Amino acid sequence: MAKRVPTPEELQEDLATFLREKYGDHVQLGVQVQQGAPGNAQPNITVAPPDEDEDLLERILEFNMTPKEVKAYLDRFVIGQDDAKRALSIAICDHYNHIRECEQDDELRDVEYAKQNVLMVGPTGVGKTYLIRTLAKLIGVPFVKADATKFSETGYVGGNVEDLVRDLVTQADGDMELAQYGIVYLDEVDKVATPPNILGRDVSGRGVQMNLLKLLEETEVDLRSPFDPASQMQAAMELQRTGKIEHESVNTKYILFIVSGAFTDLADIVKKRVSHQRLGFGGNVEREHDNEYLAQAISEDFVKFGFEPEFIGRLPVHVFCHPLSVDHLFEILSSSEGSIIKQYARSFKAYGIEVEFEEDGLRAIAERAHLEQTGARGLMTVCERLFRNFKYELPGTDVTQFIVNRELVEDPAAALDRLVHDVAFRQRSVARMTMSRFAETFEKESGIALQFDDEAIALICEKAIESGRTLDTTAKNLFSDYDHGLSLIRRNTGQTSFTITRTTVEDPDTALNEWIRASYTTPPPEQVESSE
Ligand code: ADP
Repeated sequence: MAKRVPTPEELQEDLATFLREKYGDHVQLGVQVQQGAPGNAQPNITVAPPDEDEDLLERILEFNMTPKEVKAYLDRFVIGQDDAKRALSIAICDHYNHIRECEQDDELRDVEYAKQNVLMVGPTGVGKTYLIRTLAKLIGVPFVKADATKFSETGYVGGNVEDLVRDLVTQADGDMELAQYGIVYLDEVDKVATPPNILGRDVSGRGVQMNLLKLLEETEVDLRSPFDPASQMQAAMELQRTGKIEHESVNTKYILFIVSGAFTDLADIVKKRVSHQRLGFGGNVEREHDNEYLAQAISEDFVKFGFEPEFIGRLPVHVFCHPLSVDHLFEILSSSEGSIIKQYARSFKAYGIEVEFEEDGLRAIAERAHLEQTGARGLMTVCERLFRNFKYELPGTDVTQFIVNRELVEDPAAALDRLVHDVAFRQRSVARMTMSRFAETFEKESGIALQFDDEAIALICEKAIESGRTLDTTAKNLFSDYDHGLSLIRRNTGQTSFTITRTTVEDPDTALNEWIRASYTTPPPEQVESSE
């Protein structure tokens, strides 16, 4: 017989009691159970970016995070890209563990070590830069991003790959020691590939690869750029004054390099290789998608694509980022700690306007963003378009709150017009927002979700007006017993979400009692299973 799955809180309570009985108070449960997410108990993960006054160098040299901790940190910001997050977390840990060990044991410095430089493949706007930026912030190292095309344009003066390292020093506020543990991220590296079958190879692309090669391994980069007239002038003056030139340089041995690109044509190369290998095995390669091919790319394919074997050889970690689906985009809006809706909420708040995003509104934004085909950047495009007139028209009016739902996203002009001119509509919006805040607090305290339908909200408003109380106080009075009563039902049936209708509001106590009574006769999930 299948047993009923306990709720996370019950599980935590049981385990805590067990530990207390067996070991006394000095042994405690080291897991944090997420509310409303059964079976999702996660180790209590505490890695965080450095404090403002933390010694960054010391932090780097004492690096001791695990790949799981690093990934859990990335999960808070970057949605999807699970494989990429894993691979990067491992690469980052290997890299900074190696640095720590070398610093602690001089002998290790001379031992052969292949640096975990990374080659990332994936379309635009899917989180490649975001991943690396978030990692750099977590570790506390300076981070520099540039486009590889900058170094291959003919006639570009001073576009030297070594500038990347100099920029790291600038990012580290001149701290050269810190700069040598930094991360350099070079995008659009696919543009410096030089396919061997093309007549008159693109020499500049190959040149960029060869120059990068030196950095990827180990080289000293002079802080004074030979292409920068100001630096050269300074050197000349120094020579005149002191009779010699001081060379300050940064070693690239511990700088982590990450290169990336969309590599669109690479899929064809992989497809050819894979289908060739599968011939005779009867595999059906036609059904597979381009992205699946990209994820199967190996060094040989990158060489065919136009990279020098030595260059690819210095990039041992291959990471693939996938296109984002509507669900991913929705989740980016609703769950990522870096979600842009927070930014919009803040900018409206600066005008004294509160915005609430409802789930169907976020989904509608995600659907529109998906059509843009620019990954999560589409979210910014859609939001910018959507809210421009709201930001212009609302500040300075009577509107102090509004709700972003599907209706607003589908016809923003009509929604804006109603918001500004229809007082009753505005009041309804305020009421819905107040009730949604009430439900949020209720869920935080009890772990139970309440959904108020429109008629229920209208009746609560009537009751509030009659009693001369605020909406929130009225709701608190009406549902004062619900925390206890609904928890009882949850214990009996496992139900964690309840809809409040007009009938419930008319007589909340009777409604609750009926639900409780019914919960004793509704068989819990395991009894349903076992009775089959
Ligand atoms: P690219 O893959 O072209 O480097 P970015 O990482 O610069 O794209 O993405 C642009 C912005 O979109 C990021 O700053 C971030 O706000 C958002 N974004 C992109 N992908 C994701 C993702 N997977 N999860 C959360 N936010 C994302």
